[in-house]
Amino acid sequence: MSEHTITVAGVAIDTRHWIGGERVASAQTFPDVSPIDGSTIGGISRGTAMEAAAAVAAAKAAFPAWAATSRAERARILHAIADGVEKRIEELSIVETTDNGALLRSHRRGVMPRVAHNFRFFADWLLKLEHEDFETRGHTNHVSWDPAGPSVLITPWNAPLMLATWKVAPALAAGNTVILKPAEWTPLTASLLADIAAEAGLPAGVLNVVQGYGSEIGDALTSHPDVRRISFTGSVPTAKRIAESAAANLTPLSLELGGKSPLLVFADADLDLAVDLAVEQYDNAGQVCLAATRFLVEESVAEEFTRRFVEKAGQLTQGDPRGEATDIGPNIHPLQLEKIDGFVQRAVAAGARAVIGGHRKDGQYYAPTLLTDVAQDSEVVQEEVFGPVLTLQTFATEDEAVRLANDTRFGLAATLATGDPERAERVTAQLVAGTVWTNCFFVRDLQAPFGGSRHSGVGREGGTWSFDFYCDLKNTVTSPNGWKNHG
Ligand code: NAD
Repeated sequence: MSEHTITVAGVAIDTRHWIGGERVASAQTFPDVSPIDGSTIGGISRGTAMEAAAAVAAAKAAFPAWAATSRAERARILHAIADGVEKRIEELSIVETTDNGALLRSHRRGVMPRVAHNFRFFADWLLKLEHEDFETRGHTNHVSWDPAGPSVLITPWNAPLMLATWKVAPALAAGNTVILKPAEWTPLTASLLADIAAEAGLPAGVLNVVQGYGSEIGDALTSHPDVRRISFTGSVPTAKRIAESAAANLTPLSLELGGKSPLLVFADADLDLAVDLAVEQYDNAGQVCLAATRFLVEESVAEEFTRRFVEKAGQLTQGDPRGEATDIGPNIHPLQLEKIDGFVQRAVAAGARAVIGGHRKDGQYYAPTLLTDVAQDSEVVQEEVFGPVLTLQTFATEDEAVRLANDTRFGLAATLATGDPERAERVTAQLVAGTVWTNCFFVRDLQAPFGGSRHSGVGREGGTWSFDFYCDLKNTVTSPNGWKNHG
């Protein structure tokens, strides 16, 4: 085993970059730490502008051949990658849990199968991607999706491989080559993905993985003139820096950012269902961009809703994410924990009441928290906490509910609990949100458009929208006249 290999629960992981089909080490490493117990997992290659440039060069060199590869062959290789993921679900699950602290059972049963599905879905979608030809004064219009070129994909730590492959799969399907930059707090599964892709027969240079701190390596990737697309999932401040950096070359951007989404509970709702939806918001220790972190509850049912919520939330088990019975694991990093607690303590100092939680626990765990008595313009209502911290406000009328729901700078998602379909339609039409769930939460289909409005993002990915982003769309107009007679 090389000095660049670490093992996590018996799984060997290469800590170097993957560039042009080869492992490449940096002069320096950065430590990767497990949120489960704060232990250091190992040192990961700490990328610099030099490795960023090498990865873009490799992606550029591999692009013409991959772009010219038939759709059927690209789809075949993506399915082979999905096969590889499926074979390694156990390994990927334990490595991801060790790296980011999310539940092992969720990784096994939901997340990693979904990673495989990301590849299968975009492979299959590619094969049926078409726009019907149309005529203009006897001329035929034909729309095609041309591969755009090297694509930089930058991803966060809260669902590392799921969010990375949600970009990698459509970018590869589109015929683009990829430079993937995973988050520095969760570098491991991206390295395993490089192994899986190589085993599946993906040609060298088509997928490259560079590791490192975004602040050190990011700009070299996003300002590079040979990069044709940038897709980013992460925070608003980083998105702004990336947009500035991409502006030099007018590189098209897709931005999937934060949220402060509401859960609207109307008096006519099935209250048990509403409480189930509410308690779900503690999933992944609250580190979910789509989480409905602001409960807006109709006054007449607020007391009963709160009583049932407290009872149900009290049944959640918090602890080691590898435990089968665990519902809530640790938060990702001491810095994140400090940030979460800062939000809560400032809110309490400003008059908020912690109905449950409101404090840290041993290790890297934060008690599931519900805050009431919060003002609409307060920090904890307006800013994304990204931890197990929820707020509850009440409303008297439907108009007030809509006004409160829309009154942040975000617009990622909204969840409604109501027994009245007409109300659901009326309210949905007024909400600013990329996704609205009615009497359900987190039902996601890859063919749906996904993204956010306002500061929650720019653009949509999913189904054909992904190909629209990763490709250069071309319209070819052909006259019926002018052909030579080839007999
Ligand atoms: P972050 O912005 O700190 O980091 C995200 C990625 O950007 C990391 O890989 C990081 O290394 C990189 N990065 C940092 N600085 C960079 C720079 N100057 N140039 C290029 N890349 C740089 O975000 P995070 O803390 O990792 O993730 C949490 C955020 O992500 C939350 O706001 C959450 O809501 C959001 N998120 C959004 C979605 C969505 O689909 N809308 C999904 C998951 C997470």
